Amino acid sequence: MQYAHELSIAVAAVRRAAEVCRNVQRAIPAAMEKQDKSPVTIADFASQAVICRALGEAFPNDPIIGEEDSADLRLPENKPSLDRVQSELSRIGLDASTSNICGWIDRGGAQSFGPRFWTLDPIDGTKGFLRGEQYAVSLALIVNGQIVVAILGCPNLPLELSGTSDAGTLFFAVRGQGASVQSCFGDSAVAPVRVTSTSNWADVRLCESVESGHSAHDRSAMISASLGIVKQPVRLDSQAKYAVVARGEGDVYLRLPTKKDYREKIWDHAGGVLVVEEAGGKVTDIDGKPLEFTHGRELSANRGVVVTNGRLHDDVLRAIREHVEP
Ligand code: AMP
Ligand code: MG
Repeated sequence: MQYAHELSIAVAAVRRAAEVCRNVQRAIPAAMEKQDKSPVTIADFASQAVICRALGEAFPNDPIIGEEDSADLRLPENKPSLDRVQSELSRIGLDASTSNICGWIDRGGAQSFGPRFWTLDPIDGTKGFLRGEQYAVSLALIVNGQIVVAILGCPNLPLELSGTSDAGTLFFAVRGQGASVQSCFGDSAVAPVRVTSTSNWADVRLCESVESGHSAHDRSAMISASLGIVKQPVRLDSQAKYAVVARGEGDVYLRLPTKKDYREKIWDHAGGVLVVEEAGGKVTDIDGKPLEFTHGRELSANRGVVVTNGRLHDDVLRAIREHVEP
């Protein structure tokens, strides 16, 4: 099978990173100051270090466009954070010097498009992470501008949305080979995932960000009403929204621009896009254009994101045209 080696290295790395994230999230005190972002800082850097180390060993020539770099972490005043990253890595059996750790993080410092590169969001949905809710570790391999391997670790997403299991879920996909899910922690069987075949608007469940600053809730409500969607939107942080559509617990995920000049970051989407597409769904921007992962760190040729089970896509795009300024 093509990309089998890449997939196995990437899945193992994301599982390990997810374990660090879970450890850090579980230790967040109940009465933490809202402004105290230190847990997410620590988990973010530790997650990027774990994954970039693994990719660097297995594929030393592959650039990685990661969200983080170690510049801040190296500042003398951030020594306590760096020490904490070091001890969290040690806790999962990765003993390393702080300079090695910073070196691993900076393997994720590629900036520009290339014929073959990885993109990584070590913690997508940092606000959800801090609230003790959903977040994702997202990793994808892009070859000649096409996403070919995707891993979406969702440590807090139960095997069923309404379920209570705390094994988390990990979704993966290889182009042309389908999308699958297994638990994020421990052993579990691998099961295929498939989008819904819903075409009746009364049954449609729409997913969107929790944060109204990341996706315009008011306009998605207008679009929903015009389409005849009656169910309340499912609000989730992170690329867990892609996972929910991929496994048929949602039918549409809308990400409507809140600012004219914001450009989506490639690491916020690459993992989720391939999982949904391989589960039979469709992803475009709000103008119906495919997302272009060929412009470096940003989706600079696209505005917003529309994800559906495929069947609903054209109708959603039509409704958006009527409710979003050109
Ligand atoms: P979500 O959890 O889906 O709300 O998305 C989280 C991601 O939103 C973060 O990783 C940020 O990169 C991204 N983000 C930050 N500002 C904006 C914005 N104005 N519009 C869309 N996405 C944003
Ligand atoms: Mg993100």
